[in-house]
Amino acid sequence: MTDLRRFIRDVPDFPRKGILFKDITPLLLDPVALQAAIEQLAARVQVPEAVVAIESRGFIFGAGLALHWHVPLVPARKFGKLPGKTVKEVYSLEYGEDTLELHADSLKREQRVVVVDDLLATGGTAVATARLAEQLGARVAAMLFLVELTGLGGRTRLAQYPVESLLQYEVAES
Ligand code: AMP
Repeated sequence: MTDLRRFIRDVPDFPRKGILFKDITPLLLDPVALQAAIEQLAARVQVPEAVVAIESRGFIFGAGLALHWHVPLVPARKFGKLPGKTVKEVYSLEYGEDTLELHADSLKREQRVVVVDDLLATGGTAVATARLAEQLGARVAAMLFLVELTGLGGRTRLAQYPVESLLQYEVAES
């Protein structure tokens, strides 16, 4: 099995001092590794009825999974980017807050969805995305991440959902 860890680059002090950024772009440069990542992610959960992918790196893995499973891809976007009628969720960041949106007609009631992002840190973004899907009556069957930073409480915050990640890295709580 391809060792995906080799394709994640640590970038210290990005985008701010004290943050160790997990850069996935080396993985994107290697089509064999990227395909392996999609296949390994897909193997973790049952085939859903739609993929909800989180802006913006979640779109990469979400698109790969939606094509792999041949199911619809639904982008969860930052406020103001979607042109149609939307539902919204406000969530907290380290400093301040942000808003994510889904098109109101993008999911059906009772549809089984998987939420996808590149990385799980505190879980705030993923919880907001799950709530968006639930606002539309969809059911979040699982949350899928390439990378999980453990020690930031993400898994606890997502305790009500099955959470799967391919690569775990320990991060001290700051
Ligand atoms: P959170 O809401 O705290 O779980 O943050 C997750 C979101 O922030 C994901 O969309 C990640 O892409 C991004 N993110 C947070 N921390 C990092 C990090 N250390 N390296 C790369 N991306 C990160």
